Parts: sequence; C-alpha cells; structure tokens
Amino acid sequence: MSEVKSFWCHEASNILCVRASDFDNVTRLFLDAAERCVAAERREKELQQRLTAADERADTATTLIQRIVANFDTEIEYHEDVEPNDLEHDQVLAEMREFLSPKDTEWRMHPCKNGHLDVGAAGGVAHCYTCDEKITAANTQEAFEQWNATHPAS
Ligand SMILES: [Zn+2]
Repeated sequence: MSEVKSFWCHEASNILCVRASDFDNVTRLFLDAAERCVAAERREKELQQRLTAADERADTATTLIQRIVANFDTEIEYHEDVEPNDLEHDQVLAEMREFLSPKDTEWRMHPCKNGHLDVGAAGGVAHCYTCDEKITAANTQEAFEQWNATHPAS
C-alpha cells in the first residue's frame, strides 16, 4: 500500500487522486491475496477430511486387533473345554483383509496437466495447489470425477 502515490490534482481542486496504474496494482494484489486465502481454506478442509479418514482407519484397525486378541485370549483361557470361536475368528480375518485393501484408492486424484501431484478436491472444486489448475462442479464428488476423467493417471 505504501507504494501507492497520491497527489493533489490541480485540475480538480480538493480531490486527493491515486494513479490508475497504482490502483490497478493494489487491486490485483488484493485479489491475489483473496484467491490464495480461498485456496488455503479449501486445502484446510481437504486436509481435515484426510485426517478424519485416517482417524477412522486407525479406529477400525484398533478394533480389529482388540477383537482378534480377545478371541485368542478366550481360546487360551478355556482351551480344554471350549472350542475357539471360529466364526468370530473368520469374521475378523475377513474384515482385516478388507481393511488392508481399502477402497479409498478410488479417491486418488490424478496429477494436473503439468504433472503436479499436489492436487486435491474439496468444496466442489478439484484443484492443483502448485499451478492453480481447477475444475469446479456441483459437488466435490463430481469435480473429482471430472478431474480424473480428463487427466491421465501418473
Ligand atoms: Zn499443477
């Protein structure tokens, strides 16, 4: 802001003037800052979603481990007179296998047209954080799908 020069215009008395080029520069700086702000908020939302997903996976993993340990403990404790709970054992193993091959790879975004990998989708916008390429859609799922449909996988 300090670079903007103001001066008294003698043709129009008592009116403090600002050079049009200075005004345009400051306006551009402001709009750039506002855009970065919006991108940062979008990124924060996306990181929050990733964090929530990671938390959920950690909870699921913990629960599965607790169940299988509990089943083994029961087996050990009552070894001689109780059959191990094969149904529970099989169920936990099946859920563990499912956990180890997560479906969330379907949500992996392809690189942008410049090959940047720092891409994400949130708030109805699929976006490259490096070069600012973006696709806006009715919702995040659609933006994501349009992005991957128009960008080849790496
Ligand atoms: Zn890019």
